[in-house]
Amino acid sequence: MVGNGIMAPSQRKKVCVIGAGMAGLVSARELRREGDDVTVLEQRGDVGGQWLYDPRVDGTDPLGTAEPVKVHSSLYASLCLISARETMGFTDFPFAPKPKDGRDSRRFPGHREVYLYLKDFCDAFGLMELVRLNTSAARVALAPGPTPTRQWTVSSVDLGKCNGTEEEEEVFDAVVVANGHYSQPILPTIKGMQVWRGRQMHSHSYRVPEQFRDEVVVVVGCGLSGMEIAMEVRGVAKEVHLVAKSMEEVTQGLAKVLAKHSVSLHLQLHVERLCQDGRVVFGDGSSVLADTVIYCTGYNYTFPFLDTEGAVTVDDNRVGPLFEHVFPPTLAPSLSFIGIPKKVFAPWFFEAQAKWVAHVLSGKRTLPPEEEMMRSVEEFYHARDIAGVPKKFTHDVSLFDITT
Ligand SMILES: Cc1cc2nc3c(=O)[nH]c(=O)nc-3n(C[C@H](O)[C@H](O)[C@H](O)COP(=O)(O)OP(=O)(O)OC[C@H]3O[C@@H](n4cnc5c(N)ncnc54)[C@H](O)[C@@H]3O)c2cc1C
Repeated sequence: MVGNGIMAPSQRKKVCVIGAGMAGLVSARELRREGDDVTVLEQRGDVGGQWLYDPRVDGTDPLGTAEPVKVHSSLYASLCLISARETMGFTDFPFAPKPKDGRDSRRFPGHREVYLYLKDFCDAFGLMELVRLNTSAARVALAPGPTPTRQWTVSSVDLGKCNGTEEEEEVFDAVVVANGHYSQPILPTIKGMQVWRGRQMHSHSYRVPEQFRDEVVVVVGCGLSGMEIAMEVRGVAKEVHLVAKSMEEVTQGLAKVLAKHSVSLHLQLHVERLCQDGRVVFGDGSSVLADTVIYCTGYNYTFPFLDTEGAVTVDDNRVGPLFEHVFPPTLAPSLSFIGIPKKVFAPWFFEAQAKWVAHVLSGKRTLPPEEEMMRSVEEFYHARDIAGVPKKFTHDVSLFDITT
């Protein structure tokens, strides 16, 4: 180390961060604070990740079953924060209201304000010089060489170039994966989905309600997105049927909303099947002739660019094994994941994860031995099993979710 805890050039690590959303940006800042040489690859034309609203949808693939999806952001136009702005800033860069023209100073602002906050964050910490926009990580794999000096070969594609297929290869000492996990739709399996004649889509592709004017719409999934979309569509549709898995999902708040709008908003339990004639049959045998079904059924983790030779897998939405949701024991610390946990106060949590990764890479902190990390992961899985938590909720760290 040289003065101020900054690494001498020989110790300085070359680190690639994949993704310039909230998780990738705070990672870049923490890594640079530790003296690393940081490159952030971002496939889109700007930073912000989910908060960079995209009016486009995966038009030719409305159900978003192709992997990876082409459109990253799943935000709808009217989306406002459901967590108050004071919980949505990094610890040393508060998400304070900006008394400027065009800024949204509400406590629960619209999505654009979060994007603008992330842009301000980049400006304040000079992060844009680290970010390569329009650059997609196409393949990340272990570079050949001895295990103790494990490095990663990252092949990237400059999407700005005319054909966007030429790959550039670079070797990094470490890779931080921060590619987000609210883009790849999860779809339920419902009898008749393949033959149903109406429009089926996932909330990933929902932007504005207008296209549902005078329609009968079935919204499958009673999480926050499901409820918000059902309420918004209700304003223009003939009727909306909101489908819950069970009565347990029907909170007091939802019951009140349903009672208030009982003429046009109906609660249904479970979709039994979709029929060729356009009917949607519910669990109690009743049915409606519907125009559209919107699946608000959550998102899958996916890392289409990452080749860990089987060391990290995604199984039923469990990314693992990951020590504390961050380090794969056999590849730590040269590979890490930021932003995997769900149901957290995202900026604070991601920032804490990023600091940890940066400190481990700079040698300020050490990880337990590989076997101990592995044992810890297994104990965590076991504890979750005993508590009856399904595997798909492995990374749900707390109790609320804003996105299903
Ligand atoms: C509808 C909706 C509402 C939400 N509401 C809230 C809320 O109110 N409060 C809250 O805290 N959170 C909310 N979230 C969750 C929100 O996504 C997280 O808070 C946070 O923004 C996730 O940040 P991230 O950096 O992990 O991922 P993202 O924001 O998704 O960023 C990932 C970035 O990686 C890039 N990327 C992906 N693959 C590649 C590749 N191969 N090469 C290069 N770049 C790549 C993407 O383009 C993207 O820019 C919401 C999410 C959705 C979908």
